[in-house]
Amino acid sequence: MTSEKRSGTEEVVDMELHCVRCKARLYVPLSQVDAVIASLEWTGAAILICVCGQAQLIRSRHQKRND
Ligand SMILES: [Zn+2]
Repeated sequence: MTSEKRSGTEEVVDMELHCVRCKARLYVPLSQVDAVIASLEWTGAAILICVCGQAQLIRSRHQKRND
C-alpha cells in the first residue's frame, strides 16, 4: 500500500469569473478565499489577481430592483 500525497498542489476555489484580459478562469487559493469573502462582505468588493497579472475587481452580487 502506498498513500501518495502530492505536496505543493494547493486547493483552489472557482470564482466563476473570467479575466477581462486573458479570459482565464479565476481561481482563489483556499488559503486566501477567507480574506476575499471577508472583503466582499465588508466592502462589497474584492480584488483578485489573475495569473497574467491583471487585477480584477469583483463585486458581491446584489439583485437589482426594477423600481
Ligand atoms: Zn488574466
